[in-house]
Amino acid sequence: DENMMLQFQITLYGDDERLLMARDITRLHRLEQMRRDFVANVSHELRTPLTVLTGYLETYSDLSTMLPERLARGIDQMQGQTQRMQNLVNDLLLLSRLENDQGGSDHVRLDPHSLLQAVQRDALALSSDRQQIEISVEDPHALWGSEKEVHSALSNLAFNAVRYAGDGATIQLRWRSCQGGACFEVEDDGEGIDPRHIPRLTERFYRVDKGRSTATGGTGLGLAIVKHVLLRHNAHLDISSRPGEGAIFRCVFPPQRLVDAAANDEHLRR
Ligand code: ADP
Repeated sequence: DENMMLQFQITLYGDDERLLMARDITRLHRLEQMRRDFVANVSHELRTPLTVLTGYLETYSDLSTMLPERLARGIDQMQGQTQRMQNLVNDLLLLSRLENDQGGSDHVRLDPHSLLQAVQRDALALSSDRQQIEISVEDPHALWGSEKEVHSALSNLAFNAVRYAGDGATIQLRWRSCQGGACFEVEDDGEGIDPRHIPRLTERFYRVDKGRSTATGGTGLGLAIVKHVLLRHNAHLDISSRPGEGAIFRCVFPPQRLVDAAANDEHLRR
């Protein structure tokens, strides 16, 4: 059966004994695919009604000076909530696309400096005057990857730093050598994260403080998106934090993802 999925596990016992286990995970795999399809379909179906609602609310909001104050306030609230729903639907769609297709077709040589500049611009748009966002490039290599995906992963990390590190925080965005390869690092000097939460942060909708995250406008999917983007680049996310002193989020890329900053793309593709 070509749809059958088997999982093999070999365990060593002493010097000369091996135990081979085969597990039939066909059903599990099928259920997982059904879950993915369901989420993708629902998100897709929600897009049209949301667009219609947003359109009407915009029209009413333009007329708000002519409306009684209570009504105008209600419209304002509705606009905020539909925006939240739209962000959620967009992130769910992005996540199912990242899970469902292989990726790789849009990989090019990425210049770390321009990438960090673009992320810095995004983050500045969201930050307060009392927050500082600095960038530095310390590794000479360029990265082979998808501009759209890597940009969105780094923006998610930078947005989180802006939102959770608080007013007056300094946020540093770096490209530097690490763990035999190179990494993008987003460091903040905010409150940090209790280590017991760290292993679960990339789960969908996992939040340390539910109320606070909702108030800051997050969808709860940011780090799940980062994790999937990195998986598609043979990379991983490394989170460390000392509570009270801030957090560091590292996107670690292996050496085979690094290219000569001045190399010729055509040559690399072959
Ligand atoms: P969201 O921010 O929308 O809740 P994310 O997946 O982006 O969802 O983040 C998950 C949780 O990780 C956040 O709710 C927050 O509790 C925690 N977190 C993320 N980044 C930071 C940070 N820089 N400092 C402190 N906590 C953070």
